[in-house]
Amino acid sequence: MSGLYLAQRVRELARTQPDSLALVDGDQRYTAAEFDALTTSLASGLSRVAAPGDHVGAAVEVGIAGGALFVACAKAGMVFTPVNWRLPATEIAAIAVDAEMTVFVADPQFADAAAAVADALPQVTVLDTGDELDVFIASGSDADPGLGDDPQTPILQLYTSGTTGLPKGVLITNHNLHNDADTLTVYRWQEDSVALGAMPMFHIAGTGWFCSCVSAGIPLVLLRRFDAQAAAELIETWRVSHIFLVPSTIQLLLDHLESADQERDLSSLRLLAYGSAPITPTLLTRAMTRLRCDFLQRYGMTETAGSVTALRAEDHHPNGAGSALLRSVGTPLPGVELAIGDISTGEFLGPGQTGEILTRSRTNARSYWKRPEATAALYTAEGYLRTGDAGHIDENGYLFVTDRIKDMIISGGENIYPVEIESVLAEHPSVAEVAVVGVPHEVWGEEVVAVVRAAPTGPQIDIDELIDHVAARLGSFKKPRRVFVVDELPRGATGKLLKRSLRQQFSRPPE
Ligand code: ATP
Ligand code: MG
Repeated sequence: MSGLYLAQRVRELARTQPDSLALVDGDQRYTAAEFDALTTSLASGLSRVAAPGDHVGAAVEVGIAGGALFVACAKAGMVFTPVNWRLPATEIAAIAVDAEMTVFVADPQFADAAAAVADALPQVTVLDTGDELDVFIASGSDADPGLGDDPQTPILQLYTSGTTGLPKGVLITNHNLHNDADTLTVYRWQEDSVALGAMPMFHIAGTGWFCSCVSAGIPLVLLRRFDAQAAAELIETWRVSHIFLVPSTIQLLLDHLESADQERDLSSLRLLAYGSAPITPTLLTRAMTRLRCDFLQRYGMTETAGSVTALRAEDHHPNGAGSALLRSVGTPLPGVELAIGDISTGEFLGPGQTGEILTRSRTNARSYWKRPEATAALYTAEGYLRTGDAGHIDENGYLFVTDRIKDMIISGGENIYPVEIESVLAEHPSVAEVAVVGVPHEVWGEEVVAVVRAAPTGPQIDIDELIDHVAARLGSFKKPRRVFVVDELPRGATGKLLKRSLRQQFSRPPE
């Protein structure tokens, strides 16, 4: 890529390839020139009601409004702050107050969130993405504020997924984001590439993917909310070549392809990028067999403004000795250093030893928004960012994520990582999905509990058999003491398992 930041890149594409298709949202289409003009009008409008550095909030599905706001904020030197619209209105309002938003834009279906934000912040300008935003854009001028080109300008604030606690705001600069857009030449864009945008804007994978695709100057087809049938139809219609999914949406897509009465032609797919949560080798192999395109895994977090490692296409071996790599999240991207620190002492560990994954890169975000204590805990004295994930690096430099440190189960003095047990249970034909958690236990400290969703077409679940299945492969101390069958596993808005709520639900009641 050209080394330009998002706003600059949009301006440049309008000049170099004005008529090429940039964005598709339902029946609305925007060429590079139209998208540039749209975002300039919006940026000039925003400059009338907000100042550079201000936070512009949004509760929007994946669509042109969110995409235009992101780029308009960059042009106006403002901070695009998309929020998770699945949160209750009161929590969205609390985030609006935390971010000190001066503008808040919401899709009409999130009017209750908009009302709560207006109540909590009387000075805020609230717009809906229906007519109000159109009128606002029409009132803008064609004078691009021309800001947002400085590397240190924050253009995005994202809240972490809230998997392990309350979401924390992370302020992301042009420079931070650039790592993602620029080093991801691993996407191997070609002239005729077409991408599908199926990840929410309020997650780094969604904004990062948007930034990468728009900066690459290839058409991006937006899917408002993930729906497997709609995704398959868009891939077919637009001959989509590049897509980013998370493990749970890969699973939904495969289930759909296997059950749909209509045969779908997804042969245009060249690359499926995935990440954000651990994937089981069973699901990955199933996806590789069905989709037959290149696969690219990414590992990173909001705080690293995107991915720090990639498991590349050539590392994906479905069978044989090389298939061990399917458990790895790959090798560091250019400019990223990785290290493993002892979980209690912080001391650096050698190859093969498990500890906390640490990453050092010029593009890591420097701080949390208004959370000095969390910021102080984020970095080591040597400038490494603490990921909160446990893992090891092998002799060839491949990183393996064991699990989140907070999810580690300590039972009878043994450290047990749920992901390992989940991978083994997912191999069983009666299991469609599984989550393993530790719940308090009087004698052992914690006990292993598995919560499973039955495979619709597989054999009936036999709980004792599942327990033996784990004991035989991982040893008796890792076997679940209790197994529950549920219709659905609780997931956050980006599809991650909400283990906090499982721990609550399946703790033994006090005697
Ligand atoms: P919170 O920090 O609020 O608890 P979160 O950590 O889920 O939420 P994100 O920043 O969206 O918020 O997610 C980053 C985390 O997602 C990583 O720390 C890691 O645990 C997990 N993750 C990301 N990519 C992968 C991957 N490829 N494989 C396994 N885990 C991954
Ligand atoms: Mg986190």
